[in-house]
Amino acid sequence: MTDAYAFETLQIHAGARPDPATGARQVPIYQTTAYVFRDADHAAALFNLQEVGYIYSRLTNPTVSALAERVAALEGGVGAVCCSSGHAAQIMALFPLMSPGCNIVASNRLYGGTVQQFTNTIRKFGWSAKFVDTDDLAAVEAAVDENTRAIFCETIANPGGYVSDLDALSAVANRVGLPLIVDNTTATPFLCRPIEHGATLVVHSATKYLTGNGTVTGGVVVDSGNFDWSASGKFPSLSEPEPAYHGLAFHPALGAMAFTFHSIAIGLRDLGMTMNPQGAHYTLMGIETLSLRMERHVANAKRVAEWLEADPRVDFVTYAGLASSPYNGRVAHICPKGAGALFTFGVKGGYEACVKLVDSLKLFSHVANLGDTRSLIIHPASTTHRQLSPEAQVLAGAGPNVVRLSIGIEDAGDLIADLDQALATATA
Ligand SMILES: *Cc1c(COP(=O)(O)O)cnc(C)c1O
Repeated sequence: MTDAYAFETLQIHAGARPDPATGARQVPIYQTTAYVFRDADHAAALFNLQEVGYIYSRLTNPTVSALAERVAALEGGVGAVCCSSGHAAQIMALFPLMSPGCNIVASNRLYGGTVQQFTNTIRKFGWSAKFVDTDDLAAVEAAVDENTRAIFCETIANPGGYVSDLDALSAVANRVGLPLIVDNTTATPFLCRPIEHGATLVVHSATKYLTGNGTVTGGVVVDSGNFDWSASGKFPSLSEPEPAYHGLAFHPALGAMAFTFHSIAIGLRDLGMTMNPQGAHYTLMGIETLSLRMERHVANAKRVAEWLEADPRVDFVTYAGLASSPYNGRVAHICPKGAGALFTFGVKGGYEACVKLVDSLKLFSHVANLGDTRSLIIHPASTTHRQLSPEAQVLAGAGPNVVRLSIGIEDAGDLIADLDQALATATA
């Protein structure tokens, strides 16, 4: 499917074609583990990557491939790999780039689970992360050393209504010859296409807005196809003969598709973080309405944020879509269709009032998730950020008086009425 189609068309048609066997219009759920080879030559050609086809569903599956193609089209990439979760996608994005002793330079404003993954877990692979304030471009550049293999940030980071200056960061990445990896989960390709701002790889938790209704755990890595993996000698898994795939040199042999093929042929084969066809089906269904949902998410978030900001029971609202946000100007350039639907606000009355607020809401669900059709709330200080010291909580934008909202696509008036009655109880 070509770039000639608009986003709204691609979200329904990209990657999907009538089923060759039955003519089925919707993408079938190919609930199969293996695929019959036509003959021994066909099998050999598939294993040699000389012919594209299906071997075993840990590697590829037609339903999952349709989703990969669709997300690649929406992000403007050349290829994509679907994974079992957003966290799997992050490991899969780093895997072809890293070896023991390598590091990444990462934003110090990342999803809490990612901070954990990058701080402790990747050390088991001999990798590490240096966290820096990505608004300080000199600090980003200074953190890069000869073992750095990528710069990592999120388009819209929560909590705190922070928006990354992707153009400035990709300029730094270009200057130091490294790929920029952008987690675009909270913006989605409808609000921001990081590749157009210079990103090399885009990662997603499909668990959130792509599926959109809290039914699936999944992830995707999209490759722009724009990075020269052979230029610096820093990415031997892609530029040199790869012992893990009988000596195939992926970048010399496959060019712009090197990262995607490496991720399937070695990453999925050996790490096994594969998305299942049923999950891919739900995500395909979700993406068909992505633009409609995001328009409504953004409109609702703006209305709720404006109402909260004007309320005397509220201390502050950190939503980049508000004129008062320090990131309001940046949003107009990075996410021109809106600042997403995720923000925090401060409740007068601190910890006790926040806990009471969460318990008094009727429509908002108290869950550790975001990007659902239904509106969600969490009080980070008593849940996700509970283990942090009080100082670290405040630094993370998750002080005792802060609650985070993920605004859904219900009626905005109903959401405001629910917040109004719960704030009345909480601050009485
Ligand atoms: C949820 C989330 C992740 C992790 O995704 P899972 O699907 O839960 O593994 C990563 N980054 C961001 C921004 C997220 O919101």
